[in-house]
Amino acid sequence: MNCLFCRLANGEISSDILYEDKEVIAFRDIHPQAPHHVLVIPRRHIATINDANQEDSSLIGKLTLTAQQVAKDLGVAQDGYRLVMNCNGDGGQTVFHVHLHLLAGRAMHWPPG
Ligand code: AMP
Ligand code: ZN
Repeated sequence: MNCLFCRLANGEISSDILYEDKEVIAFRDIHPQAPHHVLVIPRRHIATINDANQEDSSLIGKLTLTAQQVAKDLGVAQDGYRLVMNCNGDGGQTVFHVHLHLLAGRAMHWPPG
C-alpha cells in the first residue's frame, strides 16, 4: 500500500520510534511544532477518524493511552501537553492514516489556528 505511515509502520521508512507494540507505534514528527512532537498511529490502516467504527473503539482509545504513557516517559505529563487529531481538509490532515499528535515542552496557544 502506498501509505506513508503504513510504510513507516512496517519499517520500510525509518523513524525515531519511542514506543511500539503489535497494535500501535509512537514516533517523533519529522517537522516538530514543539520541543516534543510525537505521532501515535495504529499499525492497521485507517485513513481518517471518519473511517473508524465500533470495532476500532479500543484501538482508538489505545492511541490516547499510549500518548499519555509517552508523555509520562518524556517527563512532560505534569507540566502538560496537547493531543490533536486532524481530520480531512478543514482539520488540516495531510497524511491519510489516522494519527494522534502529542505536543509538549512549551505552553500551547488557544484557540488553535
Ligand atoms: P497531519 O497534518 O495531521 O496529517 O500530520 C501529519 C504529520 O506527519 C505532520 O506533522 C508531518 O510533519 C508528519 N510527517 C510527515 N512525514 C513524516 C515522516 N516520514 N516521519 C515523521 N513524521 C512525518
Ligand atoms: Zn496507512
